[in-house]
Amino acid sequence: METVHTKLGKDVEVKTANPFTAHHKFLIVGGGSGGITVAAQLLRKLRKTDVAIIEPSEVHYYQPMWTFNGGGVLKKERSQRLMGNVMPKNTVWIKDRVVSFYPEKNMVKMASGDFVSYEYLIVAPGIQLDWDAVPGLAESLGKNGVSSIYCYRHIDYVHHSINAMKPGGRALFTQPITKFKCGGAPMKIMYLSSDIWRKKGILQDVDVQFTSAGSVIFGVKEVAEALKPVIARYGVKPKLLHNLKEVRGEEKIAVYDVYRDGKVVDEVEIEYDMLHVTPPQSAPDFIKKSPLADAEGWVDVHKHTLQHNTYPNIFSLGDAGSTPNAKTGAAIRKQSRVVTGNLISLMNKGELDTSLSYDGYGSCPLITGFGKLILAEFDYDQKLTNSFPINQMKERASMYYMKKDLLPVMYWEGMLKGRA
Ligand SMILES: Cc1cc2nc3c(=O)[nH]c(=O)nc-3n(C[C@H](O)[C@H](O)[C@H](O)COP(=O)(O)OP(=O)(O)OC[C@H]3O[C@@H](n4cnc5c(N)ncnc54)[C@H](O)[C@@H]3O)c2cc1C
Repeated sequence: METVHTKLGKDVEVKTANPFTAHHKFLIVGGGSGGITVAAQLLRKLRKTDVAIIEPSEVHYYQPMWTFNGGGVLKKERSQRLMGNVMPKNTVWIKDRVVSFYPEKNMVKMASGDFVSYEYLIVAPGIQLDWDAVPGLAESLGKNGVSSIYCYRHIDYVHHSINAMKPGGRALFTQPITKFKCGGAPMKIMYLSSDIWRKKGILQDVDVQFTSAGSVIFGVKEVAEALKPVIARYGVKPKLLHNLKEVRGEEKIAVYDVYRDGKVVDEVEIEYDMLHVTPPQSAPDFIKKSPLADAEGWVDVHKHTLQHNTYPNIFSLGDAGSTPNAKTGAAIRKQSRVVTGNLISLMNKGELDTSLSYDGYGSCPLITGFGKLILAEFDYDQKLTNSFPINQMKERASMYYMKKDLLPVMYWEGMLKGRA
């Protein structure tokens, strides 16, 4: 299907009624996990309706697989599908990028200069990876032992760096001071790496350090407790309140600010052989500078209804939203039902569906080694919300294989098709 959008020039004063402006009932910004899921649910529930997605990328990624890809468990190509193949049938794909919002006129402007107007807007452009916020990081990535599972292009280098580790070497795994997606990923790749070194018989001779800007190992008390024996088993040294501030790739030196009571009290340089970086992250720049943003730049929505706090016909879900939950695909599975239900209710009855409320659910399947996983699920209050009638704080093979083999199928065939 092809849609043609007539150029309107640079004049933002264009009227919504202009016949050359493309118009859609439901307009979605971003064809990632959140955008595709909501589109599929709307089309499944409403059958014949008008849904368009603005998405510039040719490829859709199942990012939760990237930890396994970096650990060499699964090929990275399995985490990607062509965007055209995941777009739900009867969706209009506008292959462009949104640059600005005009919520008073119910319009967005795209990089091409074209405008699209809407009745309802769903904003789901994900989170921005700020590689340049750490001097030396972007230049070093993919060489000098610097790698990251947060970048598809460099995932193979993660596995290469793990395999290149020699006895007597040092591996640093960073966690940033900013909000970031998948709270467990910086640690999961550390545990997988450590397990590889254990299998090779060199773990006792590798200095593994978890350099995290956080003040605790994990924000949920029970999960932090469950991780203590894992950390002890691998001999990981946690270095908390350490925020990566510079990478000197040629010298293989990482520089950290050390925090106490919210203030920088020291600066330390640590030599490394392998540096795995979880980059600082923030709301996408085009959201930050838009009228939709809250003070921190996220799309300003109500934490239970996911409706925009100023513009009632705008909703947001996923990593770009202001809701204070763990930014995960699992959260989107719950959020999407609230967004879709509220949109349909608003459209049919002029009000939100009061039976729907997002409770902050997020899930972190913490891979703790080959064949081992602790399944952490929790809500806004950091209260555990287990899905299974078992002790999920125990490392289990069943949960590991569920994440590795079952969840990808549930994602591609369930969630992205509006079924889960
Ligand atoms: C290494 C790693 C491990 C993870 N592990 C897990 C896990 O185990 N479990 C879990 O639940 N979650 C995990 N996640 C997190 C999960 O992948 C994200 O939370 C989820 O993908 C967010 O969905 P989203 O729709 O908000 O953003 P994305 O899925 O990132 O999609 C955003 C889309 O918006 C598009 N876009 C960007 N800018 C624009 C623009 N200007 N105009 C139009 N479109 C735009 C992008 O091209 C992209 O397609 C992991 C993430 C990573 C990186």
